[in-house]
Amino acid sequence: MRKLTVNRQVEKKIQKGHKILEKIDFEELPIENQLVELVSGSGRSLGTAYLSEQNKGIGWVLSSQKISLDQAYFTKLFSQAKAKRQSYYQSDLDTAFRLFNQEGDGFGGLTVDLYGDYAVFSIYNHFVFSIRELLVAAFQEVFPEVLGGYEKIRFKAPGYESAHLFGQEAPETFCILENGVHYQVFLNDGLMTGIFLDQHEVRASLVDGLATGKSLLNMFSYTAAFSVAAAMGGALETTSVDLAKRSRELSEAHFLANGLELDQHRLIVMDVFDFYKYAKRHELSYDVIVLDPPSFARNKKRTFSVAKDYHKLIEQSLEILNPKGILIASTNAANVSRDKFKKEIEKGFKGRKHRYISEVGLPADFRYNEKEESSNYLKVFTIRVDE
Ligand code: SAH
Repeated sequence: MRKLTVNRQVEKKIQKGHKILEKIDFEELPIENQLVELVSGSGRSLGTAYLSEQNKGIGWVLSSQKISLDQAYFTKLFSQAKAKRQSYYQSDLDTAFRLFNQEGDGFGGLTVDLYGDYAVFSIYNHFVFSIRELLVAAFQEVFPEVLGGYEKIRFKAPGYESAHLFGQEAPETFCILENGVHYQVFLNDGLMTGIFLDQHEVRASLVDGLATGKSLLNMFSYTAAFSVAAAMGGALETTSVDLAKRSRELSEAHFLANGLELDQHRLIVMDVFDFYKYAKRHELSYDVIVLDPPSFARNKKRTFSVAKDYHKLIEQSLEILNPKGILIASTNAANVSRDKFKKEIEKGFKGRKHRYISEVGLPADFRYNEKEESSNYLKVFTIRVDE
């Protein structure tokens, strides 16, 4: 195994329990897509990492020991991960959840999600891609009940985003259960699957009655999963707004999968900022508003980033929120810390009286590295507006 000498800064980060290796900490990287032994300036071994550039970081620390990656290594990691998800396996209300979550389960760059009888491997860099046969062999040893799997390519190359990876092919669309609610998913159509499993707890709060008897507006709704959860929890009416045309039929499918009529549930294909204007013009207002935008988006008219523009969503939402209404403010931006996100929210409130009634993050199946804030990327605040 090649050795890579790291500077004092990296050594300190590793000692603190950080797993991601960042580009700014290295002057040049002569090695790519392989395992390395990390050594300190004084020549002390710091353990094993692999190097491979991805959307965040240029590699991952794997162990404080010298290790080699064989099938047995991954069988052990997958077995440990499976053991930690027993409560999900035992739940009659859930058939889809995360089986393996990157550094939280001991190996950054890979996630595996279960959708009923099938698995989806998300591969974040070239190194993981290069060892995927080994990963699949270990996975099948630990999860023989999983009928087949797909891969999602989350780095540049190899010319496709989604492909069948092993075993049986899944139906083109089928339903999974989460919090006892049905959602229609598709495993081989681009990177998305019809539901973002990390919002499990937020949807649970809606199923449990956060919006019972209320009207709910779901901004950046994608397949309207929050609206469906709210409807199942007794919301009187929901309105879901997304710019993507396809969101409409995918949303309908989630509603229909639960036997819900669409009379009280509106699906609107529109830019959310145009919708605020539309709602004001038509004097529409809501009891609960969900704000879950992408971290960054650019369309013909404007760019939006959570770090700079989230306050505008709060500001605009307050204008169409009923008295004593609730905002559910969510972001999955790893580069925006909890504190920074809260500041951005407060900026939107401009001193208007409000109370934080709950704070939700990643569900237990999305195990994260507690030593590193960016690993716990999901931040969701439920806020009651008092006046
Ligand atoms: N809240 C969703 C996930 C949102 S994904 C859920 O829980 O399932 C982000 C969505 O934002 C995408 O569907 C994208 O089409 C939509 N989007 C991005 N910019 C938008 C804009 N300006 N107006 C409306 N929708 C937008």
